Amino acid sequence: MEDYNLEVDHCTVSDWLNMHGVDAEAVKVTLRTLDTLGNPDQLCAFSRNREELDLNAEEAWRLASQALQHSMPKLSEAICCIAHDCERNFQAPEGNRPYTFYRGPDKGPFISMHYNKLPEDVMCVAHEFGHALQYHISQGRTIPPVVREIAAFVAEEALLEFVKYRLPEMHLRLYKAWEEDNKTYFGRDLEQLYSALCSSRSQYCYEINYPMGRLIANRVYKDATKPSVMNIFRGTISLSAFLSFIKEKNGAIKMINHLPEIPKSENDPPAIVAYRSVGIMVLLDIDSRRGECENSICQYYSERLYHLQSKTAFIATNDERKPIGYALWNVDKNDPTLIHLQRQAAPFGNHLELQKKLQALLPAGMQVASYQL
Ligand SMILES: [Zn+2]
Repeated sequence: MEDYNLEVDHCTVSDWLNMHGVDAEAVKVTLRTLDTLGNPDQLCAFSRNREELDLNAEEAWRLASQALQHSMPKLSEAICCIAHDCERNFQAPEGNRPYTFYRGPDKGPFISMHYNKLPEDVMCVAHEFGHALQYHISQGRTIPPVVREIAAFVAEEALLEFVKYRLPEMHLRLYKAWEEDNKTYFGRDLEQLYSALCSSRSQYCYEINYPMGRLIANRVYKDATKPSVMNIFRGTISLSAFLSFIKEKNGAIKMINHLPEIPKSENDPPAIVAYRSVGIMVLLDIDSRRGECENSICQYYSERLYHLQSKTAFIATNDERKPIGYALWNVDKNDPTLIHLQRQAAPFGNHLELQKKLQALLPAGMQVASYQL
């Protein structure tokens, strides 16, 4: 997954920001829009499927090529060129990190990975194809690492879209693998990026490129203006242009918490507290625009009542006592130390704050199966 050409071990986060022509605040503003990536409501229910697909490495390679050609017919010639001529080794030792290496315009890119017919391997083939295609089209142009990862993640998006209707059974398996990978990119890697952004002198590590790359690829790919996607492969679009695009699409207003502060309620009867809690959840869900408020009122209310009564609901507030998000969960039937999140809404970009407050609330040793983002 790494782009070794641009990996710079001694870089600081400040160098990384300069390399991309953006500042830390712009990155944070973009990350706050994570709320609407993918379909997180399914994230908790899925687990990685270790069953092999009936697809060998070369078939996966062809599939990735077909998906990109379908998505970007104007780049057909370049895609065909990579499909036929790119040197690839799918028998790299297991455990070695996949990579794509640029060897100059005469030799073209080289791909190395371990292919084992698993859904994540197929996604990885598409990812590396995306890297190779960008190397080929950009012909050695210097492209910062986040923009390199955007290209690779766009290739994954193209594959998912392509198989959705043509190979629906495979689509579900690949989609699960994609969602599982999101847990790493928006879990561990995002935490690393956030902590790196706290100090400009933090050491740069390659993993901090993934959350931005993944998020931007998802947003840009779903946008109708596919020419911008082609420019990613040409290496002619800057990261700051993407950040402006996302900011514009998302709307700065969405980030302003307009909800009223919650009155102190120590002396209120439990029924009033419960009504108020449900009301706060409704307001947060309306702002999340995640389809939750399209449920019937009866179903919506009964689910929340159940969680309030079983003490598996939590509303987080900020210093002004304004609600910033809420979470609902169930305790695992077989493992009382494991909780599965059913719902997590943080419409004003306070995802990490909500997660930290929730984790602090849970008894020590309690594990959260997955975080929705
Ligand atoms: Zn990559």
